[in-house]
Amino acid sequence: MIEKRGIGVFPGIAIGKAAVFRHTILDNVEHALSSDPEYELATFENAHRTVLEDVRSIIPHTKEERDMLSVYESMLSDPDYLFLIRSNITERRYTASWAVEAATENYTAALAALGDAYFAERIADIKDAENRLLAAIAGISSEVVISEPAVVIADYLTPSELIQMERSNILGLLLDTGGQTSHVAILAHSDEIPAILGIGDISAIAEDGCVVAMDGREGLAIIEPDDKTIRSFRARKGVAARTEKELKKEAALPAVTTDGRSVHLMCNIEGLEGIEGAIAAGAEGVGLFRTEFLVLHDVKGNGESQAGIYEEAARSMGAYGPVTFRTYDLGGDKMAEGMRREENPILGWRAVRFCMERKDIFRSQLISILRASSVSPSVRMMFPMISGLEELLEVLSFLDEVKDECRKKGIAFDENMKIGTMIETPSAAITADLLADYVDFMSVGTNDLIQYTIAVDRGNEKTQHLYRPLHPAVLRLMKYVVEAGKGKGVTVSICGEMAGYAEYTPLLVGLGFDELSMTAHSILEVRKRVRTLSAESCADFADNVLSLRDATSIEQALKEYNGKTGYSK
Ligand code: PEP
Ligand code: MG
Repeated sequence: MIEKRGIGVFPGIAIGKAAVFRHTILDNVEHALSSDPEYELATFENAHRTVLEDVRSIIPHTKEERDMLSVYESMLSDPDYLFLIRSNITERRYTASWAVEAATENYTAALAALGDAYFAERIADIKDAENRLLAAIAGISSEVVISEPAVVIADYLTPSELIQMERSNILGLLLDTGGQTSHVAILAHSDEIPAILGIGDISAIAEDGCVVAMDGREGLAIIEPDDKTIRSFRARKGVAARTEKELKKEAALPAVTTDGRSVHLMCNIEGLEGIEGAIAAGAEGVGLFRTEFLVLHDVKGNGESQAGIYEEAARSMGAYGPVTFRTYDLGGDKMAEGMRREENPILGWRAVRFCMERKDIFRSQLISILRASSVSPSVRMMFPMISGLEELLEVLSFLDEVKDECRKKGIAFDENMKIGTMIETPSAAITADLLADYVDFMSVGTNDLIQYTIAVDRGNEKTQHLYRPLHPAVLRLMKYVVEAGKGKGVTVSICGEMAGYAEYTPLLVGLGFDELSMTAHSILEVRKRVRTLSAESCADFADNVLSLRDATSIEQALKEYNGKTGYSK
């Protein structure tokens, strides 16, 4: 029995068999010469045969899958590619993995030089095929196929890897890396998958198929638990299910403080599948639709085909409140197919920076959102990662152009559709008074705002101790944004993860936020919390807290306030 601790990002108990996946070997191919080329060649030939058979046995369900498999096939059957691998091994004496890596680089460079647009767009598939070969050479599984319920254990997972898995089979998620607000954590939250991130080394310790018990609230995972531990985890599961049932009974009650202030609780979703949960939790609309998750695998071909999805969301959620489509926040850790890795992606070609350069992609998304606005007046559009007024004005002017095109083409849209900006960079927060002149609402993305204000990577487990939502710098910025927005009659909301943690609710209510948007699961607990609070007392508390000098004192003050008002985590 081995006990491991990490950052619990979604509460819940899971007990089950582990499905272990490691990228490490694939990411770090050793460039060493081999003393036994014959052995390396045989290893490669075996791996090649296995991968080719695997690929040929996959039955595609969609056009995307069919395209992907055809890229795998053509690459794995390309005589030039295979010749290069073999001669890398026999003549240059490369190891099998190095030979594959070097030949794949050559292969992609040759395709790029041909100017073949189709293949240039399939770089991610080529990389996948290469990974399959490297994994087969290393004798490990190259993808997590979750064909039966399992606790997924990995060194890391990208959001696109997670969304490709059969998530209904994921009992729990345990990762070596990642933090509270990394996008994989956010997806786990949305899908209500118990998850612990930043464990450090669990993927190296756990064996595929071993039994694991985990408690996502405590951030505790146990490999090969004994019977007593399993019994105790089962008992915890029973308690959690009962608490959840109690909370669900209150889903229809209004989120109003004891002194009558309404706090609008809305939902963050990543696709249509989030809507049912949002309605069941009593969400008053969608405060953040992370549209980029719909196109991670096909950002180019997808454009206006998104309209149907957006319209469906507008139709089903519009009656409950605003439906806020955030334009693509691609880049950072949400790389779409064909986007190149950057040295510093978090500060790089992200969100509107990407969209304003790829106006073909942006235009078709804007048209899709505009179309959806004709379905319901509840539709709102929001721009991510705005860094200042000039950028906002450029984006708004592009939106005007697209609206003109729609008018000319007779595409109906709501001329009064509300437009908002996210406030997730310190520069946007500090100039919120200027931005507020041009938008109807502002939504604070605390996940990024904390990351950029404290200069600490939100997804890096090594720096999580510095990722402090209650850092005075963060709270001062939040307070400033609320004041700037209110001064201009603009609604101010939060759609970062902070909104969904009930322990922060008194502070957020006290700072004066009008709307809090979070995953469906969090709404239940936050609603309960709002209903026990006095808005006036929260405002006094927030004022006091803003005079404190450091995150630790503020955390302590919040803990005391929560205790005094009957809440303990
Ligand atoms: C945020 O940064 O707080 C936010 C809501 O956007 P995302 O988490 O998708 O970056
Ligand atoms: Mg963000």
